[in-house]
Amino acid sequence: MEIVADLRNVRKIYKMGDERIMALDDVNLTFEKGKIYCLLGTSGSGKSTLLNVMAGLEHPTSGSIRFKAGNIEKMSEKQLALFRQKYIGFVFQQYNLLPTLTALENVMLPLIFRKFGRAARRKKALEMLRSVGLNNRSRHKPSQLSGGQQQRVSIARAFVNSPEIVFCDEPTGNLDTKTTTEMMDLITGMARKFNQTLIIVTHNNELISYADKLIRIRDGKIDEAVDVVKEQELFLK
Ligand code: ADP
Ligand code: MG
Repeated sequence: MEIVADLRNVRKIYKMGDERIMALDDVNLTFEKGKIYCLLGTSGSGKSTLLNVMAGLEHPTSGSIRFKAGNIEKMSEKQLALFRQKYIGFVFQQYNLLPTLTALENVMLPLIFRKFGRAARRKKALEMLRSVGLNNRSRHKPSQLSGGQQQRVSIARAFVNSPEIVFCDEPTGNLDTKTTTEMMDLITGMARKFNQTLIIVTHNNELISYADKLIRIRDGKIDEAVDVVKEQELFLK
C-alpha cells in the first residue's frame, strides 16, 4: 500500500465577525495510490473546504497535510504553486474553463509549466481531447460547447499532466443523468488506467458505487473511510 496523502488533526476555522465556523474539525484521513474515494456530505458539511485545504488553495488553521512532495502547510506560495502543477488535477462543477481560449488551448494550459515545447504540448493535448471523445471540437470556445462537452474538456485538462491525485468537486452537479453516467465512467476509467488517486466530492448518493472507499463528512467531522461493497459482490454472497 502506497500512501499519497495523509491528513492529521486538520482544522479549518473561518472567522466572520464574532462568529467562528469550524469548517473542518480534527480531520484524520489517509489516501492510497490508485484508489477512488467518494467524499459524501450535505451542503455546508465542509467538502469543498477539505479539497481546497488539500490542494493548498487555503491554509489549514492547524494540523498537518503530507504529500510525497512534503508537508504543504509548511510550503511558501511559490512552492504550493509548483506542487499543484505537478501533483494535482481539478475538475469543478462549473468547469472553470478559460472562456477566451479554445478547448485545445484550455487542455494545453497545465503543460505550459512543464518542459514541453509548444508542438509537444499541442500533440499531448490533442491526444487527451481524443480520449475524451472531443477531437472534433478542439477549436471551439467553451461557450460553443454543451455542458457535458465542457466537462469533458475540463477532465482532459485535469488529467493531461498525469497528476498523482485528481480532485473532483461536484463534477456532475450541473449535468443530466445520462451525461452524469458518461462523465463518471470517463473520470474513473482514466484514473484506473493510469493508477491515479481520485477524490470525488458529492452530495449525490448515486456516485458512491463508482468508488472503492466512502468517506462521510458532517459538520466538518469525518467518519473514517469504509470500503464500498460492489453490487456484484453482494450478489455473490
Ligand atoms: P460544502 O462544500 O460541503 O457544501 P463548504 O466546505 O463550502 O461546504 O463549507 C463548510 C462551512 O464553512 C459552511 O458552513 C460554510 O458556510 C463555511 N465557509 C466556507 N467557506 C467560507 C469562507 N470563505 N468564509 C467563511 N465561511 C466559509
Ligand atoms: Mg462545496
